[in-house]
This record gives sequence, C-alpha cells and structure tokens, in this order.
Amino acid sequence: MRIYADNAATTKMSRTAIEAMLPYMDKIYANPSSLHTLGQEAKEALENARERVAKILGCEPREIIFTSGGSEADNQAIVSAARIGAKKGKKHIISTVFEHHAVLHTLDKLKKEGFEITLLDVGEKGLVTPQQVEEAIREDTALVTVMFANNEIGTIQPIKEIGAVCRNKGVLFHTDAVQAAGHLHIDVKEQNIDMLSLSGHKFHGPKGVGVLYARKGIALTNIIEGGAQEKGRRAGTENIPAIMGMTAALEEAVKNMDDTTERVAALRNKLIDGLSAIPHSILNGDSENRLPNNVNFCFEGIEGESLLLLLDDKGVCASSGSACTSGSLDPSHVLLAIGRPHEIAHGSLRLSISEENTEEEIDYIINAVVQVVFYLRSISPVWRDLTEGRQQFVIK
Ligand SMILES: *Cc1c(COP(=O)(O)O)cnc(C)c1O
Repeated sequence: MRIYADNAATTKMSRTAIEAMLPYMDKIYANPSSLHTLGQEAKEALENARERVAKILGCEPREIIFTSGGSEADNQAIVSAARIGAKKGKKHIISTVFEHHAVLHTLDKLKKEGFEITLLDVGEKGLVTPQQVEEAIREDTALVTVMFANNEIGTIQPIKEIGAVCRNKGVLFHTDAVQAAGHLHIDVKEQNIDMLSLSGHKFHGPKGVGVLYARKGIALTNIIEGGAQEKGRRAGTENIPAIMGMTAALEEAVKNMDDTTERVAALRNKLIDGLSAIPHSILNGDSENRLPNNVNFCFEGIEGESLLLLLDDKGVCASSGSACTSGSLDPSHVLLAIGRPHEIAHGSLRLSISEENTEEEIDYIINAVVQVVFYLRSISPVWRDLTEGRQQFVIK
C-alpha cells in the first residue's frame, strides 16, 4: 500500500507527458540549432511548444522562455527587474514573507548588492491584499513579486488586483505561479502580470524544465551565459523532450481543470473535515482562498518529523513544511509567517493530493493520521504537561 499525497513537492508524470517526450529522445533528437532537416524538425517542435504554452497563458510565443525549472525562472525574473530598476536608480523591491526560497534567496542576494527589500506580512490567513502592495510602493520601487498560490498552505493571492495596482503605479509585477498552474485560471494579460514562473514537474510534467513568461519589451538579464538559444535570453541546448512533455502536461491539466478541481476539492474537504476532528488541531491557511489539493494542519504536542516517518510506515507519503526545509530543524518560514509559534509550527503536516487519489485513500489517510497523532501524544512529555495542566494549550 502506497498513497501519494505530496504533490506540492512533485507530481507523477502523466502518460500523455511521457508519450509526448519519447519521439524527441529516439527519433527527432537533433539539436534545434542545427541546420539539417532533423535539426529543423526539432526546432519546429520547440516553436510549436512555445505557441501552445503562450496560448494557454494568453501571451505571444516570443514572450515565452524555456528554463530549467521554476527556480531558474524566478531567479531570472527578479534579477532582470532589479537590473532594469537599477538603471533608473530604483533599488526597492516588494515581496512577501512566505515566498518560495527561489524568490527569497534571490532577494537576499540583491539585498547584499544594495537593494532594499520590503517583505509584506500575510496575516493569520496567509493572504496579501492589493492595499498592502499599494501602500508599500514607493517612487524607487523596481518590482513587486507575489506568489500566485503558496506551496505550503495553498492560499491563493488576489493576483489580478495586485497586478492592477502595479500597472497603475508603473511598477513591474512578477508572480511565481508554480503551484497555481493546472489548478487555477491563468491569463497574463487579463491578470496584469508582467512576468510569471512555471515548473513542469508540479503539473504532471517532467522535472528540470520550466517557463518564464516576460512581457515583450522587458529586457531580461541572462542567468546562464553561452549560446544564442531562446533569442539570446537563456543559453544552453534546449531540453526538447522535457519541453514537449511539459507542454503536453500543461495542456492536459488545463483542459481537465474544471472537472479535476471539483473532484479534488471534494476530497480535500473530506480530508480537512476528518483531520479537524482531532482535538487540538488547526488548519493552516485560509479555508476559502485555497488550492483544491492542499491540506495543511498543525497538531499540538507532537513533532512533524515523527509524524511523517510513522505515516510513511503506514504507506502515506506526506510532508512537513516544504521539502526544501525538511532535514533542517528550523520550522517552516510560512507557518511562522502566519503566526504559529515555533513549537506549534514543528507539529505540522502537509497533504497535497491529486486527481489520482480515491475516496478510500482519503479515508485511509484520515485513519492513519488519527492513529499516529494519538500514538505520538501518548508518548509525548509535552502532551502530558498540557493535559495535566502544567502547560497551556496554544491550539484550543
Ligand atoms: C517547486 C516550486 C518552485 C521551484 O520549482 P523547480 O522547478 O523545482 O525549480 C518554485 N516556486 C514554488 C512555489 C514551488 O512550489
């Protein structure tokens, strides 16, 4: 028995995506920069993929750059906006406290170069408001970067409205839409987005490939130097098989989005109801503005790592905080950002489901979590202190 509920970390590749890749490994394997027929066939496939991705995002093909993933796209978007701003003496960037580390660490790097970074609070619900962004924008603001949906607690930000504020003030707006793609409607024109990042492996495509959308006219700074691929904006021989797989996966996810969203959200709600019944537990993140596949809870008196390992013994693949921070003893920066104290943030569990999960699996997960939480509490000295009144409960 193995139940996969860690889709925010990565997803299983779909059959469609795998099959879309195969011909570009053993038949049309030439370098798209080569002038011979086979090279030109590869080039055609690449440009066809670019058109299909552009159509889904509502932009022009030349506004699409293929990258090695979400991290590279985030890095390139932010560094590019910083360089554009610096030329005009603008060295202020606005973001949020709960971004992915691909964003936060890029901002750290720019801070060392003399940029001033404002990180907006996200409140207890894990939401940013357009008003917060508006109030934070200054004369010297070069960029606003706010994620579409959070990878840990699944909260969805008012991207269109934040984009409108930025447009109005003439400030570039980037969004990390890695968790949103395939779950939420994305249209860069309608939603006032100047730059956007995607990652293939978060919507049943391959790993190591992603997309940066950059509105035409935005001068990109290269992160990878070398050949003139991607109109000189991203060097390196294009990963055609991965690009074809990602494109097919994105089309498939978007085509089925309405159906899967409804089904997955029903499973999510069942999971949330089941886990809410555990005493002294709390759902992290807003219950309304939330990705259809995300469940994130804190359980008082237990430790997330032990919870994960025991769930793994029962065949449930889950996560505590994000995959990037697991292995470190620091609690999740996202849970701290929504105001969970350290000891509570440590007892967290993220279950990110998919359309592949069944109702039986959801029942199994609920049972498994209930059993493991009760077991861990039964051997926890902290829990004994709480129940015997030597310590106050934080989660009522
Ligand atoms: C996974 C993820 C990334 C990184 O994408 P990679 O393709 O793994 O580099 C960036 N941002 C968010 C929100 C993510 O969930």
